[in-house]
Amino acid sequence: MANEAAQGAVGVVCPGCGGSSVRTVERTCAEERAGEKDDWRTGGKPQRGSLSDRLAASPGATDTFDSFLHFVEGLVIAGLGLGLAYTGTQQDKPLYTVGGVLWAVLLFVATISVIRGEARERDVVNVGEPRAQRMWRAAYYCSGCESVCCPDGSEWQGVLTPEQFKKLMWTKAGYADRLLHDDKAKEATVPAEALPSHGGPHPHA
Ligand SMILES: [Zn+2]
Repeated sequence: MANEAAQGAVGVVCPGCGGSSVRTVERTCAEERAGEKDDWRTGGKPQRGSLSDRLAASPGATDTFDSFLHFVEGLVIAGLGLGLAYTGTQQDKPLYTVGGVLWAVLLFVATISVIRGEARERDVVNVGEPRAQRMWRAAYYCSGCESVCCPDGSEWQGVLTPEQFKKLMWTKAGYADRLLHDDKAKEATVPAEALPSHGGPHPHA
């Protein structure tokens, strides 16, 4: 274990505290995930508030298969409305017919809007993630002072809190609006002096 820790920290000293308990963010997250293997198998996502969640490169997106399931669910529920409408015509109950049709139309529209939203999320994450990954792979985490640094200065200078790091990374990747569920990261302010002088965060990579 000690060897592994040393391996991840070759020549890297934390610019924040001067300590050497510094490892790549990639390794830090991988180790935390390995420790929570069972949770990961059931949840598939880092637990909210865990270190790998605080350092996550992307918000993730609903995959195509899940979207398909949502679509089928929506159709089934909309179909119940059509069933009701059919009963209405059979039994001459216009209220059932109108209510059933209305129900089916509303559910269908809602389903389409959910599916389209999920597809949009997937697109945004797919486009931005390579940019975020580049930054994520260049980042080192210091467990001594819980800060994130970029030793070669290619992405930013000095140390950032995990929240500032996440905000900077997600902003550059173009999905900062997905920080909505992470109050700390959403409200984090990336110090201007941390950014290279030739450019701030780009909304789109
Ligand atoms: Zn440190």
